[in-house]
Order: sequence, then C-alpha cells, then structure tokens
Amino acid sequence: MLLKTPMRKQPVVVAVRFQFKDKKMSKNEKNIYFGAQKLDRASHLREREAELKEMQASNDCKYIPVYNGNHIYMNRHGSIYRRSNPFECEATCFLGFVGDQMWYSCPLNEEQAEKLEKEVGKQFSSIRRYALKLNDDLAHIALYSRGLDLWQRNRLFCPKCGTKNTLDWTGHRLLCENNHEQFPHIEPAIIVLVTHGNKCLLGRKPEWPSYAYSTLAGFVEPGETIEEAVKREVEEESNIRVHNVDYYGSQPWPFPAALMLAFTAEAENEDIKTNDEMEDVQWFTRKQLNEMLKEGYVTIAPRYTVAHNLIVEWLEEQDA
Ligand SMILES: [Zn+2]
Repeated sequence: MLLKTPMRKQPVVVAVRFQFKDKKMSKNEKNIYFGAQKLDRASHLREREAELKEMQASNDCKYIPVYNGNHIYMNRHGSIYRRSNPFECEATCFLGFVGDQMWYSCPLNEEQAEKLEKEVGKQFSSIRRYALKLNDDLAHIALYSRGLDLWQRNRLFCPKCGTKNTLDWTGHRLLCENNHEQFPHIEPAIIVLVTHGNKCLLGRKPEWPSYAYSTLAGFVEPGETIEEAVKREVEEESNIRVHNVDYYGSQPWPFPAALMLAFTAEAENEDIKTNDEMEDVQWFTRKQLNEMLKEGYVTIAPRYTVAHNLIVEWLEEQDA
C-alpha cells in the first residue's frame, strides 16, 4: 500500500529524537519517563502533621516553589530551583522522602511568584521545556508537584456546596466550610500503538507542531473499561477496529490532570477514515518511518512521552 504524501511543501531539518540505543529504551525495562524512582511518598504521614514537623527538624528538607504547575529551571545546575528553608505559602505540601531528604512543594500566589522570579532572576516555566535535562528522581518530583498544584488551583471552591476550600493533609486533601472532602482528581486516558503486519498506525492533530505524528489517544469515558476505550478511540479517529489489546504501562501526565494508560493492539482492517479531531492518520512501515524520520519529513513525540517508548520499541523490532 502506498503511503500518502505527507501534507507539507518541503522537507525541513528538524531535531529528530532518534534514541534507539538509549539505555532508557531497553526492551526489558520500559523506563517510562516521569515514573516513580526513589521517592517514598510516605502517605501515612500526611495526616500526622505534628510528627511530620518533628521529622523536619532532624532531616534535610528540600522546598520547591511551584506556580501554576510550573517551576523555575536553573540551567546552570540542570535542576529546578529549590532551597532548604520553607517559602511563605498557603500550605507546604509534603511529597515524600528520597533517602533521608524530605521533599516539599510550595504553591505560590502571583505576588509571591513575581517576587521570587525577581530574586532568582529567572521565570517559572513548564517542565516540557526542560524535562529531559532533569535527573529521573527530580523529573518525577517536579511532575508530582505540578499535578498537585494544578488540582489545588482548580478547586478553590467545593463542587458540592460552593464554599471555599482549604488545604489539608499537607496539601493532599481539600475541605470546604461544610467539611466536604475532596481528593486529587485524575483523568484516565488511553494511548495505543496499533499494528497491522509490518505497519503501525500514527496520526496527527491539526494543532500539533508541523510534521509531528504520534500514537492515537483519548480519554476514558464514564462507565467504560480501558480496553473498550482503546477500541472506541481508535475506531473513532481512524475507522480501524482492533483486538488483542495489551497493557503496556502508564505515565502520569498532569497537563493538566491525565494519567496515560498505554497499550498495544492489532488492527482488523486497513481502510483509514479520519474524524474531525485528526488532521491525518496513516500506516507506516518500519522502513518508511525510519527514512522519514531521518529525512525530517516526520517527527515523533518527544522522548519524555510514553508514545515515544511505544513507537521506538516497535521500530527496534524486526519485520516478520
Ligand atoms: Zn462543600
């Protein structure tokens, strides 16, 4: 089957993230970026604030300021800004231990954030810009801090009675004036590498960067299993029906609140029809995709995404 000509005028030189030999892509260890590494969340301590305070006195504490889910990246250190003394903020949020270090996330308001930016001489920015420059533990901690912060900021009022929420349990529970409890909200989404013989199915959305193709994805709906969501989303976006849906792994994705559940699946048909959500969906053989990546006709999702793991692992396999 002939591949459709990609929708572009001329090839451009782009930063193709070609990481086949990267240790992160080892087949036996999936090493999905942002996955938990050494952080022990010690969740039992969240309710024991007095005990936690005592422990602070005898442990090395790291406080990370966060504003609108963003952190301050310190490029000279390849790290996000943190310090050993707390920030003035509504609630210091306990994230957990790395060894005997206690890690905290400190949600700042606009005024506090502007003040800190002036002090440090750098601005808060999204982890997408520097994810690959952080070590694994710090990337995980930053993403955790981001997810918690975005949830807190989006829930200033109780969804049941509309009264103001207050942070509790060192940032992990919200309580309104009528004592309605709320816990961090996560939105499950599926992402799937569909194959048919020696080909895989990739698509692009109109709002994505030029030349970017990725695996199909979508949110799980109420009352739906994740396997059903895989079948429905793939058929909606491409007209392809799938079976042998196999779980691959998961990735926290707080942009703003998703949890990506990754799968592989096999196609039953090849005739693609896209819906309005997709600008293009195509079948790619390994040879075609490798060549198009090298020539800069196509880019795939950045290495910090689980979509990258799915596509690169498939490219590393041999054609049958
Ligand atoms: Zn309430």
